[in-house]
Amino acid sequence: MNLCVLGAQWGDEGKGKIVDLLTPHFSVVARYQGGHNAGHTVYTGGRKMVLHLIPSGILHPGVTCLIGNGVVVDPRALFSEVDDLVPLGVDITGRLLVSDRAHLILPYHRELDVLAEARRGERKIGTTPRGIGPAYEDKIGRRGVRVGDLADLSPQGPLANAVRENVAARNRLVGDSVMRWQQVVEELAEHWIRLRPLVVDSSLYLANAIREGRRVMFEGAQGTLLDIDHGTYPFVTSSNATAGGAATGLGIGPKAIGTVLGVAKAYTTRVGEGPLPTELTDERGERLRESGQEYGASTGRPRRCGWFDAVAVRYAVRVNGLDALAITKLDVLDDLDTLEICTAYRCAGQTLTEMPGDTTQFAACTPVYETLSGWGRPTRGITQFADLPAEARQYIRRLEDVSGAPAAIISTGSDRDHTILRDDSIVRRAAVALGQ
Ligand code: GDP
Repeated sequence: MNLCVLGAQWGDEGKGKIVDLLTPHFSVVARYQGGHNAGHTVYTGGRKMVLHLIPSGILHPGVTCLIGNGVVVDPRALFSEVDDLVPLGVDITGRLLVSDRAHLILPYHRELDVLAEARRGERKIGTTPRGIGPAYEDKIGRRGVRVGDLADLSPQGPLANAVRENVAARNRLVGDSVMRWQQVVEELAEHWIRLRPLVVDSSLYLANAIREGRRVMFEGAQGTLLDIDHGTYPFVTSSNATAGGAATGLGIGPKAIGTVLGVAKAYTTRVGEGPLPTELTDERGERLRESGQEYGASTGRPRRCGWFDAVAVRYAVRVNGLDALAITKLDVLDDLDTLEICTAYRCAGQTLTEMPGDTTQFAACTPVYETLSGWGRPTRGITQFADLPAEARQYIRRLEDVSGAPAAIISTGSDRDHTILRDDSIVRRAAVALGQ
């Protein structure tokens, strides 16, 4: 049974830890969208590792990690990450694969990202200026450069032609410097030496793996509410972070996906701009940020924090067809006297129980809260649901009711072992019972 793990909120839900925890039960971990703007923080044996582009499955010997066609790859970022892993004893030989159809992020994409964000002024999106948006623009605009194109670097070949035209467009836009297309191609030639052994047809690779009975985990980056189609547009990422993205971003049929697990924090955070109805802009938000260490893994930016938004998570359950939730960071709420759960929105005198598609309307929504008692004692490291304080159990049960999906996994700390695996059918169906 294959499993898709994705973010059910605005990203940073703790997917890294959940993927890492489940990886021993899979042979292949495949990333299907995004770029090196994602940041998975994984703690293993007290060691902190941040992975941006490479699936965190790489930390498990014997697991193959695949970067799918739906991902945009900056070769500099990829090899800098590889080089950081080697001194930690992580051997990537034969275990890291990159789709021949993945699009490349090139130096001009990074520059255009910075320019575009500056031009937006007040209406900025809050992107990480790493060229991801412009690389996806070139992909959709049918002028992108794909990994497989690197096989022909001749000056009159299709890659050189595309780079020449794209660099000329860049030079028309950027007034204070001139980029040489030849230099971009030369740099690509160097990267190709290292990249070539990693390149596969990801669709074919996965079809064969699945036929041979190898189990695959599909790993999403960012989160549902940042999906280009289903998120809070335009304050979104440039790809499909939702479950459908696994099919298009890897070249598999939707039926190959199997079980879908959504990762959600026990509260809500968001980085960057855009509406966030349950945001706490007062001292309570500050407390959540401090106790949850809510600072971006990729950028260090402070995250906006607020109460659990069950309307948003219910929406994620629907658009992804979530079978279950993994609720993370329960321990961050330990000190609170009371907790709020947003069960609906008030907007223009109406009560909405579903996420509105119109972002302006969404921005005008205020939350309708339900108040629950806090538990006032530590839950950090608890591994059995029955050992949680009664109020914490009540909180989780209420999150399940209002979100519409069972909490198959509850995370009570950043370490792998700080995890409750509920004995429910979803965990069994995904065959991830970790031998318990
Ligand atoms: P991701 O991109 O979804 O993996 O999220 P990040 O890695 O940006 O943020 C998750 C952070 O929360 C990491 O530092 C994790 O180690 C940490 N974390 C994950 N689960 C828990 C938990 O249950 N409790 C606490 N206190 N920290 C957690």
